[in-house]
Amino acid sequence: MGKTQLHVGIIGAGLGGLAAAIGIARAGHKVTILEQAPQLGEVGAGIQVPPNSTRILARWGLLSALEKVSVRPNNFHLRSYKDGKILSTQPMIPYCEETYGYPYLHIHRADYHQILVDEAVRLGVAIQLDSFATGIDFERPAVHLRNRAEPFLADLIIGADGLKSVCREALLGRSDPPHLTGDLAYRVTVPADLMKAHPLLAELVAVPNINYWMGPDSHVVGYLLKGGNLYNIVIVSPDNLPELVNQQKADLKEMNDLFANWDPQLRALLLLCTDTSKWRLQNSREMISWSHPTGRFTLLGDACHATLPYLAQGAAQAVEDGAVLGHLFEKIEHAHQLPDLLTIYEAVRKPRTTRVVQGSSHLGQKIFHLHDGPRQMERDRQLVDFQHDPF
Ligand code: FAD
Repeated sequence: MGKTQLHVGIIGAGLGGLAAAIGIARAGHKVTILEQAPQLGEVGAGIQVPPNSTRILARWGLLSALEKVSVRPNNFHLRSYKDGKILSTQPMIPYCEETYGYPYLHIHRADYHQILVDEAVRLGVAIQLDSFATGIDFERPAVHLRNRAEPFLADLIIGADGLKSVCREALLGRSDPPHLTGDLAYRVTVPADLMKAHPLLAELVAVPNINYWMGPDSHVVGYLLKGGNLYNIVIVSPDNLPELVNQQKADLKEMNDLFANWDPQLRALLLLCTDTSKWRLQNSREMISWSHPTGRFTLLGDACHATLPYLAQGAAQAVEDGAVLGHLFEKIEHAHQLPDLLTIYEAVRKPRTTRVVQGSSHLGQKIFHLHDGPRQMERDRQLVDFQHDPF
């Protein structure tokens, strides 16, 4: 019996949904993405693309396109919040290539997203915009869409609809709002030219590095983007957003006041910010299973394993989900194998993503956000040792 071409419907054209579409289309199957937005795009500025992602993107022939619009960081510096003293330096070049075979990249999210959209379209993936999924019929399987009389039908439906996932709630059969972590993030970009002209800041942009300032209950991450022309800053601090508001424009004075006692270099950097918004950082609770017992529906990405971004692995894990699904679809010959495919998918992916979600929370509470005292002093001592034996 020959191989049957299956039709897969993916809800959500984020980085995870697009990666799954590419993986499954490369395996020779038909893919349709249903995206609620009227046009494609990504929110936010920078994203770190670690070697576990660049390895997949290289296999798909996309690494050179990505590298053209990325910056490769030389070093990863962990700094003290008080004076910016470097506590630990991990060389990223040539460490990542030598150890993992693939580079670590910094890229603008819009560029990353566009490269995946272009590849999906080149592979024949259909992307239907203005297609908001309101519910799933797991038996058929089918997706009910807002303002459409007819449901969307396919052999397998994948919910890749992000943190506030309609698909997750449909699978659970109840409301399951994202879980508060107690942290929020300000996201800011500063033109690198302004930093080059500043006596305290020129050093930060002379060489592409990743800088982390770690302090009580907060940390700040900075790195270059866009050929070195833009400095991307993520500022994590305790969540003070009003209840039910997950994102809002933020007051620059309030942001600067939070860091009044921090490293003068960092304070000078934050004073260059002209506009910012703050975002509540949320996790999803671990699910018992990502798939429906019919074997015709599953979840991926933030819809089932949203994580704090402290390991820079949220999108990387969503892309891995897509790559694993694509690999399994290469093996499948008929729709009746779909339940086994989903069993293997979960067995491979769930333990790994759980480790990432737990590891990210651990990193925030136990390492990045320590208050001054014996634990912080022990951390700083161990970081110096870690520098000699990284990863
Ligand atoms: P999303 O990107 O949320 O995409 C979901 C898509 O589904 C969207 O297009 C949405 O419009 C669509 N959708 C939603 N509901 C519906 C519906 N009902 N019907 C149809 N379509 C729908 N990760 C990294 O790997 N590296 C980093 O450096 C990094 N930094 C981060 C920094 C911050 C401050 C934050 C908050 C996150 C960071 N992440 C990082 C995590 C990363 O952004 C996410 O994990 C990743 O974007 C999740 O991708 P996704 O495709 O699963 O979901």
